Amino acid sequence: MPTEEKSSQMTAPDVIVEMLRPALESGQFVAFYQPQYNHTTQRLIGAEALVRWRHPTKGIIAPGLFIQAMEQCGLVTGLDLYVLDKVCSFIRRCLDDNIRMVPISVNLSRRDLSVPGFFDSLEEIRQRYEVPQKYLRLEITESAAGSDTETICNAVSCLHALGYQVAMDDFGSGFSSLSVLKDIDFDIIKLDMKFLSSEREDAPQHRGGTIVAAVVRMISWLGLPLIAEGVECREQADFLQSVGCQNIQGYLYSTPVDEETFVNELKGSHLGELSPVLSLVDHLDPGAFWSEDTLESMLFSHFAGGAALFEYYWNGDLELLRVNPKYLTELGMNLSEEEVLRSNPLAGMDQKEKIAYVKAIEQAIKTKQSVDVDTWRNITSSNCGEDHVAIRTTLRLVGSSRGSFLFYAAIRNVTAEKLYIRQMEDASRRFSAASEHLKIFYWEYTVATHEMRPCARCMRELGMPPLVTNYPDSAIQAGIFPPEIAEQYREWHRQIDAGVPRLEAVLPLTKDRLPYRIRYTTEFDDYGHPVRAYGSATPEPTDSPSFQKTDE
Ligand code: C2E
Ligand code: CA
Ligand code: CA
Repeated sequence: MPTEEKSSQMTAPDVIVEMLRPALESGQFVAFYQPQYNHTTQRLIGAEALVRWRHPTKGIIAPGLFIQAMEQCGLVTGLDLYVLDKVCSFIRRCLDDNIRMVPISVNLSRRDLSVPGFFDSLEEIRQRYEVPQKYLRLEITESAAGSDTETICNAVSCLHALGYQVAMDDFGSGFSSLSVLKDIDFDIIKLDMKFLSSEREDAPQHRGGTIVAAVVRMISWLGLPLIAEGVECREQADFLQSVGCQNIQGYLYSTPVDEETFVNELKGSHLGELSPVLSLVDHLDPGAFWSEDTLESMLFSHFAGGAALFEYYWNGDLELLRVNPKYLTELGMNLSEEEVLRSNPLAGMDQKEKIAYVKAIEQAIKTKQSVDVDTWRNITSSNCGEDHVAIRTTLRLVGSSRGSFLFYAAIRNVTAEKLYIRQMEDASRRFSAASEHLKIFYWEYTVATHEMRPCARCMRELGMPPLVTNYPDSAIQAGIFPPEIAEQYREWHRQIDAGVPRLEAVLPLTKDRLPYRIRYTTEFDDYGHPVRAYGSATPEPTDSPSFQKTDE
């Protein structure tokens, strides 16, 4: 009877505790890892270690069923140190196997923080496995923070002194969030979508969305990175991204997985870093570009011409986030949106173009004004192979964070224009090279203004300015046309002004009276009025019959 009486007085946690203690001692607990991703770049940026009880007969048991009981009976600190030991041993193994690692978050119970010697035990474990602090993050829940701000404050300082980063877990679960954020020096905030449950039924833009947007904006003012957890669907992640939070943990990407599965995840992923919340500049709302039914999004998709949103990182990386349909047609080549998003525009530019583009980006950041830049790019499409196109981009900064900048880019394909200009330049370069070679001087005379534009050689050898006014008198005064032919040359211009189509003669030119064949061809407008005359002077052999040097 007494035994029965005693057993009937036992509480449920007591029963569990009797099972938990031996379970902890015999090592039935394991750490699972839930990966965290940057939703924009799809890079793996960290993971959270979550304890699981591997029961010999009942299988895997989630912490929801035993953590509270362990907290109540004081077993939780032993469990947390046990999990930390497993995590450090795992990180050590990965480092030894040359597997690139991301920081792993370990959960601390509020109980741990007031256990004497807890931080020494924590350090002892880390040092035993020689794990650098940067691979560990410690999570403390907001409710823990709410209970005794001073204890948490001291704990966070202590952990900082030991070189750890500390995350506030479950932000938004209690009522004290704001004051806690103000008082305690956390490094990372974790926002649990669970606590914003209206999010699930409503479309993200509605009530829950507004709360999330407001919370994210508030956190962005602190300049702290934010990880959204409990993210189950694409819409949630897209919405979070649109309001500036790119760091995502949740079933959308992965459930918590065992060590071996996580090792494969590490090996198969691009690794990245936690990114701070994007803060918006000016009145432009980059978030609005992602949700389908905003005015910005509609303008972007249908009226903006070719346009894209991209992120530019301090390390020089650039990533396209969204392009509209006209962006694709502007590039040509029947490119798919996927092909374009996958390609880094900078990768298609040669060094000189890249420098110009990055310079324009930096100018746009500095001036907060739109900046235009023309660049040639190599474009590859699965349909049409390779092409070389010139793109005029108007860059405008719309958002920034500590590590990156969000840009709106309007583009126009200017390949045809550029090719035409290039052809003209080539022709004029060839012409001037030929004229140098043949020692030709040439110039352009404008009838209406009596202005003359000389060739490079005229400028160099005869010291003429790029634009000669009051022609030919100014050239006669400069001695290029000696006095004895001055009147004849003036007469030629009177004839050109009157509409003579061609003129030609061999005349002594310059102070040295060297023989040159001078030719003029006049160009007329649609009404037959003379507009311009093209002059040239080619050296004539001094013994030419058409030239008799006049004695001075
Ligand atoms: P938590 O620290 O907030 O961990 C996140 C919980 O959300 C985990 O539950 C995770 O499995 C779950 N979760 C992740 N993604 C999603 C999702 O998309 N949807 C939903 N509905 N849930 C998601 P889990 O593993 O059952 O852990 C529950 C809690 O137990 C943790 O909440 C944490 O407070 C505590 N816990 C877990 N491991 C430890 C530990 O080693 N020590 C201590 N003291 N507490 C731990
Ligand atoms: Ca946690
Ligand atoms: Ca949490």
